[in-house]
Amino acid sequence: MTELRSSCSQDYSARGGQEADRIFTSHFNRLALDPHTPDRVEILDTTLRDGEQTPGVALSMDDKVRIAQLLDELGVDVIEAGFPRTSKGEQEAIRKISSLKLRAKVCGLARCSREDIDSAVDNGVDYVHTFIATSEGHMKNKLKMTREQVKARAVDAVEYARSRGVIVEFSCEDGTRTELDFLKEMHVAVQDAGVHKINLPDTVGTMSPSAMEYLVSEVMEVTKVPLSTHCHDDFGLAVANSMAAVRKGARQVHVCVNGLGERAGNAALEEVVMSLLAFLNVRTNVDTRKLGTTSRAVARMTGVPVPDTKAIVGNNAFAHESGIHVHGVLKDPSTYEAFSPELVGMQRNIVMGKHTGAHSVKEKLGEYGICLPEEMLATVVEKIKKLAESGKEVDDAELVALALHIQGQMDQEHQHVKLKEFTVFTGMNITPTSTVVVEVDGKQVRSSDVGIGPVDAALNAIRTAVSENISLVEYRLNAITGGSDALCEVTVKLRMNGDQKVMSVGKSIGSDIVLTSVNAAMAAIDRLLARHRS
Ligand code: MN
Repeated sequence: MTELRSSCSQDYSARGGQEADRIFTSHFNRLALDPHTPDRVEILDTTLRDGEQTPGVALSMDDKVRIAQLLDELGVDVIEAGFPRTSKGEQEAIRKISSLKLRAKVCGLARCSREDIDSAVDNGVDYVHTFIATSEGHMKNKLKMTREQVKARAVDAVEYARSRGVIVEFSCEDGTRTELDFLKEMHVAVQDAGVHKINLPDTVGTMSPSAMEYLVSEVMEVTKVPLSTHCHDDFGLAVANSMAAVRKGARQVHVCVNGLGERAGNAALEEVVMSLLAFLNVRTNVDTRKLGTTSRAVARMTGVPVPDTKAIVGNNAFAHESGIHVHGVLKDPSTYEAFSPELVGMQRNIVMGKHTGAHSVKEKLGEYGICLPEEMLATVVEKIKKLAESGKEVDDAELVALALHIQGQMDQEHQHVKLKEFTVFTGMNITPTSTVVVEVDGKQVRSSDVGIGPVDAALNAIRTAVSENISLVEYRLNAITGGSDALCEVTVKLRMNGDQKVMSVGKSIGSDIVLTSVNAAMAAIDRLLARHRS
């Protein structure tokens, strides 16, 4: 084991500094390194173009602008912001994003037509991605054009786009199902026309990684301009195919956040960036620590949730339940983690369930400042397992309640704060305002505050009444049943400022979202004060 670890860190010492200590990939990867692989690749993110073509996704103007800003902060090199010729809204979004003066280049997609190219350039982009289909099927059935006509159209588009003073990338659409001789002929023709980058799209996701390596090597023999890839995930191989292309010399990869995109989606940004770094030692300008927040923001704005088991950014990517696994991870994370969650802006999550052991329960309770003697700890573990067997997962709030109950603290605890009165005003064109009367250690305190919504206003008013030092760590709302009269479950996590290690959690179930939130907050505050004063 020691030998394995040391050979790993040797392998990746080239990454230097913190990354070398935080990635624990297999030492066999070094056997697959290739001399054609570049040290660095550019990332073209197409979340706002291909990603927006995800069935069911329609982003508002504000969301598009926000996503562009997030991508820029993340460090992508090119943002494909849309397909301007398709609609007025698309043009407006591209104009807005171009006017942000981002560090990233802003790209507009254009068919090989002067009108399409004008539509991109006139709306402010500094980068045009122009494409035409070159596979026999697409030319015959869709374009109804001959090879010669297709080539002439592509050459004209590239020359015209160049004449308009922007960076020009060209794609043979369905390139991976194009006859090799014609694909090469097209690449040479656009290179002669002055193209800056040539993209090789696996439009329908029909390549294997080995085939991708072969094709990239073949086309790179006839051209010198940087090659890019655009891989779709129809067989779940988009990331593997993108890596195969880079391994053989591609210098740019098209990606979408969370693997969004048409049909099964595009290569996922977070997976491509991390895999290139971990396996091929290829760097990008992406700040990996922002991957988690970017993923969550895009999931929220697009309404496409990230599956729990999704690589890198899924809820379970760093979750551990089994007793043996948890014990190992707490001792040394590399035992059961391929890389540190901090490296990608995620958090380790110890989940309580039927595999839970005393170790993880102790660790979790420690986060809430609860320390139980051995025999009580054993009772808690036993209860969790019983609940798990009946299909009930135990979250933090329930664990804390269970532990306090077993410790016999529940009753004496509820003496610190009591809610005596509560109102909230909300509606349209008024600022949500809440007034509460809270009894803190037998003394009544009245306080009002405002918020961005009724729940926010209520929580602010309670905090103002009890202590300004309390900050909200997490607020979670789950609908238990469907419909507008559904029951909801609210979990509130709090922390006392200046006491970073100690948290408190409260939970409540009810039919009124605001009142349920207030009750959960009161429970959390009560525990926090009990802990803080003891
Ligand atoms: Mn695509």
